[in-house]
Amino acid sequence: MKKTIKRISLAVLTLTALFGCGEKAAEGTNAAAPAQTYKWKMVTSWPKNFPGLGLAPEKFATMVDEMSAGRLKVQVYGAGELVPGFEVFDAVSQGTVQMGHSGSYYWKGKIPSSPIFGAIPFGMTATELNAWLHHGGGLELWQEMYKPFGIIPMAGGNSGGQFAGWFKKEINSMEDLKGLKMRIPGLGGEVLQRAGAVPVTLTGGEIFSSLQSGAIDATEWVGPYNDLAFGFYQAADFYYSSVWHEPGTGLEFLINEKAYNELPKDLQKIVEVAARAVNEDTLDEYNARNNAAMQTLKEKHNIVPRELPPEVIEGLRKITEDVIAEQVAADPGFAKVWTSYSEFMASIRAYHDSTLRAYLNNR
Ligand code: CA
Repeated sequence: MKKTIKRISLAVLTLTALFGCGEKAAEGTNAAAPAQTYKWKMVTSWPKNFPGLGLAPEKFATMVDEMSAGRLKVQVYGAGELVPGFEVFDAVSQGTVQMGHSGSYYWKGKIPSSPIFGAIPFGMTATELNAWLHHGGGLELWQEMYKPFGIIPMAGGNSGGQFAGWFKKEINSMEDLKGLKMRIPGLGGEVLQRAGAVPVTLTGGEIFSSLQSGAIDATEWVGPYNDLAFGFYQAADFYYSSVWHEPGTGLEFLINEKAYNELPKDLQKIVEVAARAVNEDTLDEYNARNNAAMQTLKEKHNIVPRELPPEVIEGLRKITEDVIAEQVAADPGFAKVWTSYSEFMASIRAYHDSTLRAYLNNR
């Protein structure tokens, strides 16, 4: 009996709620109006649709379109289509466009700490970097550093560990690095400069011709998947697979803060969740494709990957420590971010040394 009364009361309540809502909606002015749509432009530092790097922004645009049922449309532009690859940050900061996709180490001239969110020589792997960003306070620090520029950064993919790169001559000692003109951005470039090399910064599209013409003697880019697509094997004979300067390079989405704040809450969440999904998916893509491309380089193009000798790795590691110590002393922002990053790395490194390293050796 009691149960029946309860059920009837519930039914009445439900009906009241339904009718109540119906009346309210009918009174409201927005009830029948089509949902507002937003059209964004996203500029990138990569050639349009370039494997991995260039696919990440495209995936983001498709995902956002589908999740929002077309309420947020993002048009993606390759490097140079709207703005050059190195002007992505400024375009987003100034609000010329609403979004960008790039690599944080390109902005170290403006924000000295920015490379830490992308890649630090001898730093964290992709898995470790993602753990720090999303569960170790890294993302909050990143957003704090970009805030003065009106930009909200979000992780936008990870290439995994990047190869030391393509060289026209063999590298057998630190001496061999002297005078070497190499395309290498970020702190890795600083380290090589101290080793006597001449680091050059070029966007992706400029590298192949510079290597082929001899304007540069060596280049790093990403790893087999992307390097095969650029055809570097046609311009240099020596491919060094050692990972040192970019142990797990994080890419970034840059979002104009004002444009983001103008979005309703559900679209903001869609942007955030799509960025996070693309961040993970891009790493999965690199892990799958790098291996396949390495086989092609070996079997089809007779490229034998080689390792930098321990003497060179040790030399570069020592210089890296000096470069980081100087950055810490020179910039309070770098010091703040580095404290968080290095503490997290020390802890997770010990954990991975006793678990993952042991497992890889045992497998
Ligand atoms: Ca690189």
